[in-house]
Amino acid sequence: MVAVHQSPHVLIFPFPAQGHVNSMLKLAELLALASLRVTFLNSEYNHESLVRHTDILSRFAQYPGFKFETIPDGLSQDHPRVGFAMKDMFASLELITKPIFKQMLFEINPPPDCIIGDGVLGLTFDVANELGIPIIPFRTISAGCVWVFSSIFDMIQAGELPIKGNQDLDCLITSVAGMETFLRFRDLPSFSQVSDVKDPLLQLMARETSKNFKANGLILNTYEELEGATLSQMRNKSKCPKIYTIGPLHEHLKARLADTNQTLSDRSSNSFREVDRSCISWLDKQPKGSVVYVSFGSIAVLPREKLMEFWFGLVNSGKRFLWVLRPENVPRNDGECDGVPTELVEGTKERGYIVDWAPQEDVLSHGAIGGFLTHSGWNSTLESVTAGVPMICWPCFGDQQLNSRFVEEVWKLGLDMKDVCDRRVVEQMVNDLMVEKREEILKSAAEFAKLAKGSVNVGGSSYCNLDCLIEDIRMMNK
Ligand code: UDP
Repeated sequence: MVAVHQSPHVLIFPFPAQGHVNSMLKLAELLALASLRVTFLNSEYNHESLVRHTDILSRFAQYPGFKFETIPDGLSQDHPRVGFAMKDMFASLELITKPIFKQMLFEINPPPDCIIGDGVLGLTFDVANELGIPIIPFRTISAGCVWVFSSIFDMIQAGELPIKGNQDLDCLITSVAGMETFLRFRDLPSFSQVSDVKDPLLQLMARETSKNFKANGLILNTYEELEGATLSQMRNKSKCPKIYTIGPLHEHLKARLADTNQTLSDRSSNSFREVDRSCISWLDKQPKGSVVYVSFGSIAVLPREKLMEFWFGLVNSGKRFLWVLRPENVPRNDGECDGVPTELVEGTKERGYIVDWAPQEDVLSHGAIGGFLTHSGWNSTLESVTAGVPMICWPCFGDQQLNSRFVEEVWKLGLDMKDVCDRRVVEQMVNDLMVEKREEILKSAAEFAKLAKGSVNVGGSSYCNLDCLIEDIRMMNK
């Protein structure tokens, strides 16, 4: 084995949000396990939360070449950093964080041999190029979504973007190669469902995604057996030298730790919030496959009226449920927040359980879980696919609209409830998922879960691609 002090030094810089940090920390640990030196650059705000709520520092202390560094995200301490307000982050990172990052690269010792920057953070690409440092972007979204973002100019040229006021959203899009048979206007990532091509978020996604394909490679948290068709399109049509699919990262890390006779302590997580493990004891008392797990991720906010539709739908379905409800993500109509309605909490006690934040990976692999009502964030989707848990998808924004279409129409792993929030539909979908359509969905779920696990075991596609990535990084150090 190569001594750590001679190993290449990789600097990893995630976009400062839970889902991004979560998966990029897993990549960081995988590289540290391979004896690479890793500097993980967290925003000051997130690092403070991470250190407060997890054993992260002691967990990473076992890797001699690993260190955390922090950088301001440019937002004020009291900025909400959830919901639509997250868009402020892009501007503040470009304006405030970018020059600090550049200065940091002059000072960091040893200098990085390679930067792995979040693929949505074009500033990492710009600075690395300016300073002549190799850069490999990591996109935390699906290959499908990267492909749709990279097809924005094709959609504009075909006249499919901007979306016209009278457009039937159920019509198929024709200009995203490989998706002609299932991609509808309503399935486009929310940032591209715009009525003006000058829309700043659309422009940003097109710009940052085009940088992904000009770098030294592209890392994706997905696996060949899940997104092979899209990956072929990407490999044929983009000029990206290498696309490393190394996911599902949470499962990959577990497998590699097992190779070294270590286990991922079930208490360790990368959460910015206090994890409430009491839900595991509650799940232990529920019958096998009987519980619907409900979570809308770390950023989405749920207006009170919608929250109540979900609650009535769940209660009326007669099924048991475990619900992650973060008080700060339930705003009142005036935008202020007074937490989860008490009538909902009280009325849930008979057949349900509510927590602020759950150990999601452990929850999804618990035998009592029978389904996942999810916002279709990419991490949640992959975690559910790997655990073989069927989904009801209620996408909120970003890539989620596309993920939910893949779940229902392409992979047959669940039901897509997008754009509808009605208690009768929720009740119907819960019953379909848990009873009526269960058998056929479970068949696909078991198949994709097996393929996910196979991909990260010795000789599997993601396992080999990670080895290849590590080898290519080592070459950068020669
Ligand atoms: N998560 C968690 N506990 C919860 C809810 C979510 O640990 O109660 C984790 C989940 O496992 C996932 C991440 O938070 O890894 C959410 O990422 P995702 O991409 O699904 O959604 P986002 O939060 O970015 O919208």
